[in-house]
Amino acid sequence: MSPERDVAVVGAGPIGLATAILLNRRAGIPASRITILDRRVPPAGQRAADLPVDLRVFALSRASERILRACDAWEEIAATRTERYERMHVWHADVPPRGGDALVFDAAETGERDLGVIAENAVLQAALAAAARRAGIGFEEAEIESLAQGRDAAVLRAGAREFGARLVVGADGAQSRVRELAGLGASRADYGQVAIVAMIATERPHEHTAWQRFLGDGTLAFLPLADGRCSIVWSLPTARAEKLLAISPSAFVGALEEDLDGALGRLELASERLRFPLWRLSAEHYVGPRVALVGDAAHVVHPLAGQGANLGLLDAAALADVLEAGLREREDIGAERILRRYERWRRSENDLMAAAIDGFDRLLARGSGRVAALAQRGLPFVSRAPVAKRVFIERAMGLAGELPAAAR
Ligand SMILES: Cc1cc2nc3c(=O)[nH]c(=O)nc-3n(C[C@H](O)[C@H](O)[C@H](O)COP(=O)(O)OP(=O)(O)OC[C@H]3O[C@@H](n4cnc5c(N)ncnc54)[C@H](O)[C@@H]3O)c2cc1C
Repeated sequence: MSPERDVAVVGAGPIGLATAILLNRRAGIPASRITILDRRVPPAGQRAADLPVDLRVFALSRASERILRACDAWEEIAATRTERYERMHVWHADVPPRGGDALVFDAAETGERDLGVIAENAVLQAALAAAARRAGIGFEEAEIESLAQGRDAAVLRAGAREFGARLVVGADGAQSRVRELAGLGASRADYGQVAIVAMIATERPHEHTAWQRFLGDGTLAFLPLADGRCSIVWSLPTARAEKLLAISPSAFVGALEEDLDGALGRLELASERLRFPLWRLSAEHYVGPRVALVGDAAHVVHPLAGQGANLGLLDAAALADVLEAGLREREDIGAERILRRYERWRRSENDLMAAAIDGFDRLLARGSGRVAALAQRGLPFVSRAPVAKRVFIERAMGLAGELPAAAR
């Protein structure tokens, strides 16, 4: 018997929502044959602009902007507290913040209007959920507990309810139940670090610039926000981070000013402090019989390069391309043979980025010894070498490698 739907997407985070929309708009799967399941479905009729400010923000690449446009969600995202960043200013603790040894990527140098945008997680989710509803895609509130993978269909169970589909997409985040139930396995390594996220008011203007200092024991990023303040991601060894989370706001700000080395003048804590333990994860397989993983369910990377959600959006767009081609050839969208194309494509791109990010962490953010010293001296070299700089900018903007149609 054929299942009641073509695709069941588990997870209504930004990546699951984008996947469902692109499978409809790009691969041509009818909206009525797609269901998005989440233990907490974003409420209908919710406008991003009415949401309280979400401290979790993403630096989104140009490729992500294009994918979100293809999802019909970009207008609402761009109109809701997003900030375009025009420069990245990166320096190592051994050199002064604004001296000639800082590495500066400037959009103007490359003929681009900006390098990307800073947007809130909740804004992305609300705008994508609204776009999915406009397209006619259905939502079900359900906590997935089990999965049976048959020859013609996979069946998800949540309590007494069953959801059959030709293809189940696991977009259920880093602790993915779908990954576990499908036996896809994952290698996981603890960074021994915690990222502190908070909103900070700065004495000097942020100049539409993303500021990043490699500290020797971690990384500190200041991302510019539309209201003139900054969002920080301060990744540190767990013991130091826990101390900073427990001390008074004024002592916290003192330590923060020291780690930023005065680059933005006096600072002020403008929110609570959030805590994110950091680990790396890579699923052993992205696909299995009638199952595919996207986003954090497939890979989790260190936030120092701000790439996690960007990679996930590329997964969503690549899966849509592969299924579109499969459907054109009248193939079964849940066939492992088709899904393997997606796995080969995205696994190599994601592994490459994860290795580069780990290299930054080991050599630039926390490195010591001769190789690390060489890498640290390499920063100003890259700054003065236009070709090397272009390569870095293209990667950061998500425009390198094999791009899915929605990102071109
Ligand atoms: C400190 C920090 C800073 C970051 N900064 C950036 C950045 O600047 N740029 C960037 O690109 N990325 C960044 N990232 C990465 C980014 O946060 C993630 O890659 C992204 O949120 C992953 O989205 P997702 O949709 O895959 O998963 P999630 O957002 O985790 O969504 C998963 C969804 O699945 C649902 N779910 C889970 N299990 C079940 C179940 N059993 N049944 C039903 N539903 C279920 C959950 O309710 C949730 O809605 C950062 C990460 C951290 C920690």
